[in-house]
Amino acid sequence: MTVAKPSPQKSTKKPSGGAPGRVAAILKGLDEAYPNAECALNHRSPWELLVATILSAQCTDARVNLVTPELFRRFPTPRKMALASLEEIEEKIRSAGFYHNKAKSIQGAARNLVEEFGGKVPQTLAELITLPGVARKTASVVLGVCFGKAEGVVVDTHVFRISRRLGLAKGDTPQKVEQNLMRILPPSKWIGFSHQIIQHGREVCDARKPRCERCILEQLCASEDKTWRS
Ligand code: SF4
Repeated sequence: MTVAKPSPQKSTKKPSGGAPGRVAAILKGLDEAYPNAECALNHRSPWELLVATILSAQCTDARVNLVTPELFRRFPTPRKMALASLEEIEEKIRSAGFYHNKAKSIQGAARNLVEEFGGKVPQTLAELITLPGVARKTASVVLGVCFGKAEGVVVDTHVFRISRRLGLAKGDTPQKVEQNLMRILPPSKWIGFSHQIIQHGREVCDARKPRCERCILEQLCASEDKTWRS
C-alpha cells in the first residue's frame, strides 16, 4: 500500500515565544520523544570527556569517537598527557581537524590540571574555564554530564538553530541564546534539554531540510523554515 506523503500546506500561524505553558508543552514533547537522550561523546571519566569535548570543535562526535580510543589508551590520565610532546598528540588527533590548536589545548589543559588541580578535573565553571582550550560551552558539558551540575545551558549548533526555530530564543549568538534559555527553562532541565535538542536536530530538525511531518513539536512550532504544516 502506498501511503500518501504529507505535502506542504498553507501557513497556519502557530503560537511562539517562551510563555510558561508553551515551554512546558515543548519540554513534555521532548521527554516523550527522547527519554534517554545523552552525551554522544564516548568517555569513561571527566578527563576523557574534557578532551573529547575539546576535540569536538568543528568536528562530528562520530569522528571524535574514532580518534579517542587510541588517544586515551596512550595517554589515560592528565599526568601521562602532560608529559607527551605536541607532535605525539597531533599525530593521534590529526583526523579530528585543527589538530595543531587542539593538541596545544589538550597538552595545556593536562599540564594545568596537574600543576593547579592535583591532576583532577575541577567541578566549577570558574575553575574549568581557566584551562587552555576550555570555554563556557566545554565547561558546561563536563559539569552537566560528569557531575550533574547545571551552571548553564550547552548551546551547540543544533541547540542554537532549534531554540530559535521554536521561538524559545531570539539571540543571534550562542551566548545570547544561552541567556534566553536560562531565563525560560527550569534549571532542572538545563542539562537534559540540550541532549534532547541535539538528538532532535540529528534525527528530525535538520539544518537544511527539517522533517516537520514527523516532528513531535510541529503543533508548537511557527518557524519560517518549516517544510510541512498541520
Ligand atoms: S516543526 Fe520542523 S522546524 Fe519546527 S522543530 Fe519540528 S522539525 Fe524543526
